[in-house]
Amino acid sequence: MELWFRRPSEWENDERMDALFCVFKQRDLNPLHYDAKMKFWIETILSYCEDHGLLQIDVPTMVSCFRRKGKTPKCLDRIFEELNRQKRFMSSADYSKSQQTSWMSWTLNKVASPLNWMSAKTPIDQDVFIIKELVDKKAQHVLETLQAQVSIPTFDCVISYNTFVDTCRQCSLQDETSNNLVVSSLIHDKKILIDFIDDAKTVKVVKFAAPGSSVVRPITEIENSVLLLRHSKERLEEQLKKSEEHIEALLNEIRRHLKNSNRSAAMKTLRKKKLLEKEHDKKESTIEHLNSVLSQIEQTDCSSLVINAYSSGVSAHKELLRKNGLSPDTVENMLDEVHDMLDTQAELDEAFNRPIIGDNVDMNDLESELEDLLNQPAPPTPIANSLVVKESEEKVIDEQKLPVTDNKEKILSNIDKSREQDNPFADLQLRLQKLELDDHQIWLVKIPLVYSIIEKEFPTVDLLEQHEQFVYVCLIPRLYLDKFKHYVLYHHGTYKIIVSNVAEWNLKINKRRQKRSLSAYNNPLDSIYLERFLDYEEQQNWQNLLTKSSLTKNYVKLHPIGFTYENRTLTVVQISTKLNRLSKKKRAGVWIDAGMHAREWLSMGVANYIIIRLLTLKNENKKVKDVLKHFDFYILPMVNPDGYEYSRQTDRLWRRNRSPTIYSDFWIPHKSCSYGVDLNRNFPFEWDTYAGSRSPCQETYRGQLPASEAEVKNIIQFLTNKKEEDNDQFDPHRSMRVYFNLHTYGRYWLLPWSYTKHLKPNDFNSMLNRSAEAIKTMSTTMNNNSSYHVGQASHLLYPCGGTSIDFASTIIKHSFTIELPPQWISLPLCEQNNNQTDEMDCSVGFFAGEERITLDGNEIFGGVIHYLWSLMRDSYRRMPI
Ligand SMILES: [Zn+2]
Repeated sequence: MELWFRRPSEWENDERMDALFCVFKQRDLNPLHYDAKMKFWIETILSYCEDHGLLQIDVPTMVSCFRRKGKTPKCLDRIFEELNRQKRFMSSADYSKSQQTSWMSWTLNKVASPLNWMSAKTPIDQDVFIIKELVDKKAQHVLETLQAQVSIPTFDCVISYNTFVDTCRQCSLQDETSNNLVVSSLIHDKKILIDFIDDAKTVKVVKFAAPGSSVVRPITEIENSVLLLRHSKERLEEQLKKSEEHIEALLNEIRRHLKNSNRSAAMKTLRKKKLLEKEHDKKESTIEHLNSVLSQIEQTDCSSLVINAYSSGVSAHKELLRKNGLSPDTVENMLDEVHDMLDTQAELDEAFNRPIIGDNVDMNDLESELEDLLNQPAPPTPIANSLVVKESEEKVIDEQKLPVTDNKEKILSNIDKSREQDNPFADLQLRLQKLELDDHQIWLVKIPLVYSIIEKEFPTVDLLEQHEQFVYVCLIPRLYLDKFKHYVLYHHGTYKIIVSNVAEWNLKINKRRQKRSLSAYNNPLDSIYLERFLDYEEQQNWQNLLTKSSLTKNYVKLHPIGFTYENRTLTVVQISTKLNRLSKKKRAGVWIDAGMHAREWLSMGVANYIIIRLLTLKNENKKVKDVLKHFDFYILPMVNPDGYEYSRQTDRLWRRNRSPTIYSDFWIPHKSCSYGVDLNRNFPFEWDTYAGSRSPCQETYRGQLPASEAEVKNIIQFLTNKKEEDNDQFDPHRSMRVYFNLHTYGRYWLLPWSYTKHLKPNDFNSMLNRSAEAIKTMSTTMNNNSSYHVGQASHLLYPCGGTSIDFASTIIKHSFTIELPPQWISLPLCEQNNNQTDEMDCSVGFFAGEERITLDGNEIFGGVIHYLWSLMRDSYRRMPI
């Protein structure tokens, strides 16, 4: 009762209250007394309900509310009857009838439950009553509160449903039923309406009558637009908050890695954090943009008010309008722009949900940030996080036991940690090289046991590295392989063989190390560059050398066209003998790309071969010289550097890129499910029709959306000249005429279409004949009686959708995919190949050696040059290129 502000003064008077608590006697006996008692109770009940925010009430509840010194009033049913007669109390059934139209106008199904709306006449003490005047009063209060928040009537009268509910709560409407009674009343009196502003009917809004107007008007276009903008902004702000938390968590993870001296893991996490921060910044700037658009709209609204005032006034004001650059048209235009904005906002939203493809992360920045973190005192380890402490303790113990030879500590101290942090196993490789182990395997093991337990069982198995909780890299003597495997499986663990023969592996690494360092070769045209499959870094260095060397710099321009998921740059090498000539005439472009599939190393070598040959022969060979007179070459030798590096370091037969799939957040024993999209199924033409898998576990996974992958997007942008305004990267004077897409293997020269067997592109036959002619010239350069098969891709291979050649063919007439050697049919059958391991999957065709670069490069260079030369020849005969 303490909340009952207006408790009547009689309440303390026992004698008086006893009389008031009695049942009513007949009015005739003492009308004065009867009326006074009636008046007392009506006022008391109403003030009680209002003070307690009760909008509906029943007799038993009221009786118990007025319990006083062990007694309860006996007269309340008579009061309820009177209030009902006066229509100040309405039974739930009557009330629902009176409000019918408004109940129908919004979804009230769930509301009906506490009140049995449709029940028949019930005895007074069993019915529930709605206190009409209090509902109306509350409704008025809510409306006034809403109107008080309006600053721009043109679009502030529409709010999200959640904001509306919050306002109701502010007006002390505590329970849902009271809330619904007020809403129903407001709808009934045409003070508010409830609707959706988006087509999907997910954004529910409330519009209320503007201050000064008696009824609510329908939602206008502009209100709709502004609301969608505000809604987008709110959602972005929510996302922003989440990503801030995520960044903080990553920072802690980095500190933990540093504490465990796991520098490579720290670097990886730092990279992740950087990407997240970039994304965060992008969102922040989008919000800023939205804010500025919103304020622009507000200003527009003010301007339109001014215009309305003026246009109803005298024509003399027109001059003033003109001076201020305002006319009804300009306002209209601004509104149009807002609508365009909304369309792009939808796209933006979608883009934010896709993996980050963003900008480059400077490695030097990462390095120095890592150093800073390393020098920072670590924050105190939270007590709850005892597992972390345990992990590092174990690491110390295990490392003491690790040595297989005695000089291990020396070895560890000799490791130059800063040298190869890009390769998470670099540290491991160095250690193993010096240990001279054979007859061992290295496994990556995930098992829900702390390592000390494993160690007790298998003292001969060594822990080389701990990656995260319960994930270990172990060195296992061959003798114990079976036993250890059963032990892992018994404990519901999983394992993956990283190195099946440590001795052999060491040998290979040593060989590779000896070969390293191309830095001594200052001549970018040196044949050394054709004797290697360059790694990404070497490739970048070489390309830079092309732009610096006096031999080549006047003919080479690099176009960094974007970044991969792992932030490697995609660089197009432009070769042009007229690079420095100013000419407005558009030059014909030839595009060549390679390495779309990570394991197809030979294609990348051949692309480099073409670059070197063009630059070497530009003045020496008449045909090459002629071709370069008419064509500029745009060559992207490494379409998929992320996948390629992964193929070099971890899985030689990796095909796709390395962007995370929807499975990447889970531990799935099949590594192939978590990362990678087949780029040659991701192009936005006939995507998801044939031979592109929808499953992230399949080699030919097409991606979640057409052109979802950064590599694909960047290529498309370049080919279609979409970024012409950016002169640094894009050459407005070119128009792409010929497209070559290099793969291995099969020895095919393939024409579009790839997606269908039933259709052929225009001029298919002339392209076919020209290709056949080109192939003829190239077989003369080879001492090989078998030559390329030429034909439509869908026929020679199989129909598949989303391929680059089909996409290219929609904008570039002469588009080809070339499958380099070896020839499919000359491959040994699987069962004949005794040396084959599980991993090789019978696909020895991908293992073409480095010596093939020159052989196959020479062959295909001849074919490409001849094709282009024949186009030129025929263009003189009036045939359009
Ligand atoms: Zn391929």
